[in-house]
Amino acid sequence: MPTAEILNIGTELVLGETVNTNATFLARHLSRAGFQVRRITVVGDIPQEIQAAAREALARSQVLVVTGGLGPTVDDPTRAALAQAVGRPLEFRDDAWEEIVARVRARGREPTENARRMAYLPRGAQALPNSVGVAPGFVVETEDRRVLVALPGVPGEMEAMFLGHGLPYLRRRFGLQTETLRTRVLVVEGVPEAWIDEKLGDLEKRENPFLGLSCSPGRVHLRLRARGQTPQEAETLLDQLEAEIRQRLPWPVRREDETEKV
Ligand code: ATP
Repeated sequence: MPTAEILNIGTELVLGETVNTNATFLARHLSRAGFQVRRITVVGDIPQEIQAAAREALARSQVLVVTGGLGPTVDDPTRAALAQAVGRPLEFRDDAWEEIVARVRARGREPTENARRMAYLPRGAQALPNSVGVAPGFVVETEDRRVLVALPGVPGEMEAMFLGHGLPYLRRRFGLQTETLRTRVLVVEGVPEAWIDEKLGDLEKRENPFLGLSCSPGRVHLRLRARGQTPQEAETLLDQLEAEIRQRLPWPVRREDETEKV
């Protein structure tokens, strides 16, 4: 399974002023698409921090998806820091600039001089169009075939760009067109986790379907995950695992309601 990491950039994130919803969104979609998400990192708008975090992530994992700091202001240092992390110079790109001009004009304005900053991409990068805002994202591959995907920070822009362009690129690149991930949560009340673990320990070592336990006061959550070539195949694996769990546990087991999810 290809490995992936997420790097969210923004001083407002490390100050706790903004909830990092981009991380949750990307982790969910990358996992569903068949990537093993290994780490999520958050750093402020500091070039050295961004560069170091991106380098480390690309040394560990095959894919790094970055959000934030692609805008035209000087406190948006992501572009240059990422270019350095992948060892490519920034180059002015006519195709990206034309796209930016068109997006700004569509809003009845003329692009300002600092908007040109957004047309600089690392050499060899593919520009990702921004259908909601203005700043383009990009995909660039390193010498050793690691893939960096850079997206804007604004959630609406990031989501549209990732689902419309970033994820299709990654799926093609890693041959993950069809695999889907399905999840299900079962709840057991008033039973110590260790007792449940004792009955299900061997199931927790399997990769597909996967079973993980987590606790909240008075209850244990059994998190089931399955991958399949089709949603139906994944659901069938979940059904089989659920039946096995119910057969082994002598305590009442119920499915978690949508309403009680946190
Ligand atoms: P643009 O310049 O196109 O607006 P940007 O890439 O420069 O985007 P940022 O300046 O980093 O994006 O962030 C813009 C806004 O998006 C932030 O003020 C914040 O409200 C929101 N945002 C940024 N990162 C995240 C995140 N990880 N999760 C949720 N919201 C975020």
